[in-house]
Amino acid sequence: MALRREPHVLVVGGSDSSGGAGIARDVETISSIGVRTCLAVTAVTVQTHEAVMDIRHLQPGLVADQMRAALQANEVAAIKIGMLATAEIIAAAAAVLRENPQVPAILDPVLASTSGRALLEAGAIAAMKRDLVPLCCLVTPNLVELALLIGAKQAVDEDEAVWQGQELLAAGAQAILIKGGHAKGLRSTDILLHSGQEPIRFDAPRLAVSMRGTGCMLASAIAAHLANARSLEDSVGEGKRFVFEQLQRNSTE
Ligand code: PLP
Repeated sequence: MALRREPHVLVVGGSDSSGGAGIARDVETISSIGVRTCLAVTAVTVQTHEAVMDIRHLQPGLVADQMRAALQANEVAAIKIGMLATAEIIAAAAAVLRENPQVPAILDPVLASTSGRALLEAGAIAAMKRDLVPLCCLVTPNLVELALLIGAKQAVDEDEAVWQGQELLAAGAQAILIKGGHAKGLRSTDILLHSGQEPIRFDAPRLAVSMRGTGCMLASAIAAHLANARSLEDSVGEGKRFVFEQLQRNSTE
């Protein structure tokens, strides 16, 4: 079979009919950085910018088959994982990652929409932490997701957030980017943790604007830069800058 030799990011996630988040945002982000994409859809959601009206999961085998076909047809240089919906889809995605250990995977642990609807079924967080988190080179939780992943209350300050991140590293994560975008303060600080290394801070001014899909954009931009053979630290810095620029553009439109 002919293999497309340009680096691609394989996007694994749910579709959002509003276009605000999910795979539409991922593809838009990665293409704007000049990297090609291929897809494995996990779920179809019926959404507006205000509400999630319906969610349909795809069969886990169909998700794994899409991932394998995308990996077979293209030179996949990074995998970006978003909404996974069920423990069975998590298991299917984890099986494909284990077959392809050379491809770095970034996991945005999508648990709920901003409007509050669960995007991962109750009980599947444990499976995500146990079976998927250790296979990914980076996990990008916000403060709510981080607390749920380690079974704690949301951190109230940066020290507690770093402590919670270290708990996730102890549970097998390779690296974690704790997103502080929903915290308070004049600056929006994300913290990159690797085991045995000092935390690295990525800082941007906090803009008085809210935009959907920023978590999808950040993880996708990081994956695109990793696919371009940048280091993890550089990719995170570029990703953070990308999201800041999009927020800035949104606030002046
Ligand atoms: N829908 C899908 C398919 C998503 O993947 C996500 C987040 O990753 C969301 C909705 C939630 O986006 P938001 O928090 O911006 O509502």
